[in-house]
Amino acid sequence: VAYQRTIKNSTTFTGVGLHSGKEIRMTLRPADSGTGIVFHRVDLTPAVSIEAVSANVVNTRLSTTIGKPGGVVSTIEHLMAALFAFGIDNVHIDITGPEVPIMDGSAAPFAEGIRSAGITLLQRSKKFLVVKKPVTVIDGDKKISVIPSRYYRISFGLSFSHPAVSSQFRSLKYADQTFLRDYAAARTFGFLAEVETLKANGLARGGSLENAVVIGDAGVLNPEGLRFRDEFVRHKIMDAVGDLSLAGYAIIGHVKAVKSGHDLNHRLVQELLSRRDAWELVEQEDAAPAVFGLPFQGFALSKA
Ligand SMILES: [Zn+2]
Repeated sequence: VAYQRTIKNSTTFTGVGLHSGKEIRMTLRPADSGTGIVFHRVDLTPAVSIEAVSANVVNTRLSTTIGKPGGVVSTIEHLMAALFAFGIDNVHIDITGPEVPIMDGSAAPFAEGIRSAGITLLQRSKKFLVVKKPVTVIDGDKKISVIPSRYYRISFGLSFSHPAVSSQFRSLKYADQTFLRDYAAARTFGFLAEVETLKANGLARGGSLENAVVIGDAGVLNPEGLRFRDEFVRHKIMDAVGDLSLAGYAIIGHVKAVKSGHDLNHRLVQELLSRRDAWELVEQEDAAPAVFGLPFQGFALSKA
């Protein structure tokens, strides 16, 4: 049996929100078993608490946003991916604005903070969602599906009509250590023309080459270049791990995605959860202990 986890010590992140450009402070605090991952908009009066689950997703246009009447928190996906990689089921997140800080555009700063905070095992078992039947969501040329598999696997294909990106494909057989080493540091990316449109519309105000890979006509504009040759598809897989964690359980199944994004990722979770014949919850899954449940020390984050 795998046990639920929380963090051992509180840890604080500060940085700008990608879209608001505002400085935001975010503190993760330990939580009891059964709490879940709960954001608290402590800058609002009264504070608004929002559980990070698919039912609370209110917007998926540029990032994944959760909300309750009176308040939202957007761009939660990279933090969610880092929490997932450490098997954190329960944590309180006090946040002073409507967006999770973008940090360097990847999940690596969050992973480093959580690693430093440490992990505590709680006295309650955790459940895994085992996929029994295929579930698919299609939107034009975009598609995402999950099929039964012994493992949590994510295969992702993307293609752009841009010479600097063209098409990339990767398949991750999920294991916490692999994910943290090879995926967590992959950064958000955008095309210069899109970034300029977003800024003209008052979005991406906090966006810069410090927190995103920006692609111009001639290629990547960031002077340091890419962290991985195929950083874009790695980032999309990291986004998917964060978005799919909103199912509330680690998924045992093979996710196959073509040009998917936050919207389709969310719609797959909703479709899967609504199809009660397509999955079952188990406490002990043969594949799970080997791939979920990172040791507390002794692993390395990818050096950016
Ligand atoms: Zn992302």
